[in-house]
This record gives sequence, structure tokens and C-alpha cells, in this order.
Amino acid sequence: MQERTLVLIKPEGVQRHLVGKIISRFEDAGLKIVGMKQVWVDKEFAKKHYTEDIAERRGEKVREQLLNYIIEGPVIAIALEGVNAIENVRKIVGGTEPKSAPPGTIRGDFAHVSFAYADAKNIPVKNIIHASSDEKDAKHEIKLWFNEKELHSYKTIQDFFM
Ligand code: GDP
Ligand code: MG
Repeated sequence: MQERTLVLIKPEGVQRHLVGKIISRFEDAGLKIVGMKQVWVDKEFAKKHYTEDIAERRGEKVREQLLNYIIEGPVIAIALEGVNAIENVRKIVGGTEPKSAPPGTIRGDFAHVSFAYADAKNIPVKNIIHASSDEKDAKHEIKLWFNEKELHSYKTIQDFFM
């Protein structure tokens, strides 16, 4: 039941000084940070994160926008661990479209824009954060963003209360 999942604070989240607030939400829920770093990736790397699969789901145009967007500035990559961490992190993050994401979620609290607005501007919808969507993605993404030495197994106070 213990899982690891990847979160990226996207360039606008870093530029808006939201890093501390976002990390607090995961820590407050008892999720454990097992890896964390600031990285400025290039397009080749971005293609390995936003794979062909995204083009199949959201269209080639959205993928191309994402590839250009994620390299605009540094991101914060975080590996989180916890019980059903993948699903729990997605819940804390909220749905893809900030307009529809409920208050209390990161995307609902720190953004409000719609797909229609982003599409009209020809940009990916600015939703502050990425989180792995399932087990397969989480495995692939953690391996892509972190090497073995950057991931840690240790105890936190939370382990005593679970
Ligand atoms: P996520 O897992 O909730 O981030 O959503 P997806 O994996 O489906 O999409 C990846 C990212 O593409 C989203 O976080 C948005 O930034 C962007 N995106 C997805 N769908 C659309 C869309 O219809 N229009 C625009 N402009 N951006 C989109
Ligand atoms: Mg996704």
C-alpha cells in the first residue's frame, strides 16, 4: 500500500513563490518527502516526461505547448511517499482544470483559469503543479527525475501515527 509518486512544481508555481505553501500541503497530510530538488530541464528531457501518451489523450498541440512551457524556468521535483500516495496526492492537487478544481485543492486555491482560456491563448492550462496519474506513470517519472542516491528511506514522526 505504500507508494511513491512524483510532483513537479511547474515554472509558474516557482515564479509565483508558491513552493513553501505547496510543500506544506503534502507535509500536513503526512506524506513523506523522499526526494527533492530544483531542476531546469531541456526539451529532450521534457519529451521523456510528457511522452507521446499525452498527445494521444490531449492532442499533439497541447503536448508541444507543454514541452515548451516546462523548460521556461526551473521546476521543483519532489518524490513523495505514503499510503496510496498516488491517489492521495492527486486528491490534494485537484483536477486538471483550475476553474473546475474545488477550493481546498492546490489547483482550486491558487489558480482559476479554464481550458477555454488557455486554448484561446495557445498555452497549456496553468495549473501550478504536476502529479503522477497512476502506478505506471509514477514509476517512470520517479526514475526519470531522480537517481537512486537522491531517494531516501527514513522514518518520520508520521510513521508512529499510521
Ligand atoms: P494532469 O495529469 O491533471 O496534469 O492532466 P494531463 O496529464 O491530462 O495534462 C497535462 C497538462 O496539460 C495539464 O496539467 C495542463 O497543463 C495541460 N492541458 C491538459 N489538457 C489541456 C487542454 O485541453 N488545453 C490546454 N490548453 N492545456 C491542457
Ligand atoms: Mg497527467
